[in-house]
Amino acid sequence: MPGFEVFGDEEKQEILAVLDTGVLFRYEFGEQRRGIYKVRTFEERFAAYCGAAYGQAVTSGTAALKVALAALGVGAGDEVITQGFTFVATWEAIFEVGAVPVFAEIDATLNMDPADLEQKITPRTRAIIPVHMLGAQARIEEIKAIADRHRIPVIEDTAQASGGALHGRRLGTFGACGTFSFDAVKTMTTGEGGMVVTDSEELWNRMSEYHDHGHDHVPNPGGRGGEGRRFIGTNYRMMELQGAMGLAQLAKLDGMISSQKQHKSDLKELAARIPGVSFRTILDEAGDTATFLAFLLDSPERARAVNGVLREGGAGAIAFGENTWHYYPKWEHLLGGKTMAQSGWPFKEGDGRRRVFYDAQALPMSAAIMDRLLVYQIPVKLPEARLKQTAEALTKAALL
Ligand SMILES: *Cc1c(COP(=O)(O)O)cnc(C)c1O
Repeated sequence: MPGFEVFGDEEKQEILAVLDTGVLFRYEFGEQRRGIYKVRTFEERFAAYCGAAYGQAVTSGTAALKVALAALGVGAGDEVITQGFTFVATWEAIFEVGAVPVFAEIDATLNMDPADLEQKITPRTRAIIPVHMLGAQARIEEIKAIADRHRIPVIEDTAQASGGALHGRRLGTFGACGTFSFDAVKTMTTGEGGMVVTDSEELWNRMSEYHDHGHDHVPNPGGRGGEGRRFIGTNYRMMELQGAMGLAQLAKLDGMISSQKQHKSDLKELAARIPGVSFRTILDEAGDTATFLAFLLDSPERARAVNGVLREGGAGAIAFGENTWHYYPKWEHLLGGKTMAQSGWPFKEGDGRRRVFYDAQALPMSAAIMDRLLVYQIPVKLPEARLKQTAEALTKAALL
């Protein structure tokens, strides 16, 4: 998964080119920057890589979600549907714009279940955020069709699936926009950073303005200080050093994915020997980024027993059903409505009555999957010794 495994001279050269000019800001400094616009160039190349018309770089994947929601006009009192298996960032961003997250079930893709999504749409639903978790596709075509029927925009949280595709089309380009993360552990990384891609010029303009204090970016005699504004903005600007890193890492993305694919298929073959094992549904193997191998046992007890053997062998898998950062029933701060706001909003009304309630048992279909799920993260570089250790542990687990 992490792009830091392949840092090299390319990243150094890109960074040094920025330091040589002394300009870390993505706008202005016309002469001093000597034509170097790393963030802008990164946006253009990333959008082109995705086959999207526009890219908007921001400070993180969480900021990308917030900027996308804000640009789509989502705000206080609105509902946004996402899935109960995702990183906390997805729903943090929904709260950030004043809206309230509604959680849909996942299915065998480990992503949003379209049938459950449809049931959870209400007149207040203003956006739908399916997540391409663990590097592979949500049922985005079905989700988009449902959303279109209800005239609700789709934001694809593609934070974990940079470079992924479904039937030849890049993930992140099916909905109104797609958001990406380049944080320290993502497939390509800029340390911290994010991107939104879209085909809509107006949506892109709104994101560009909102993420930069409302600056309209229309050339005028007064320069940046003379720019106008259409609405209240904020600051999620990416800096030049991050743009430089992004250019070097984007150039390596396809290579990283292809070595992950090789490692994933090696491990999958070994895991397939475990009696009762099945694999996560991948809608299109060619478009999988192979950042994770997700397999399921036939019961929660078997999953625990198998992982016990794997751990003993020094090759334990991630049990996402017990993971406190990625799975709904484990988000005790969400379930308990633990906001820092004195008013308790949005969990409580002004008079202290409960307003929004999250029930730990609300997603039984997801629980039936998550409790049986084991996951290996797939590295870009898999040393022979590590592969051997994992192979031995998996072979032992197959005897259980
Ligand atoms: C990493 C991640 C994010 C947030 O990205 P940051 O850059 O860390 O803010 C959002 N959604 C998902 C699914 C993620 O994995």
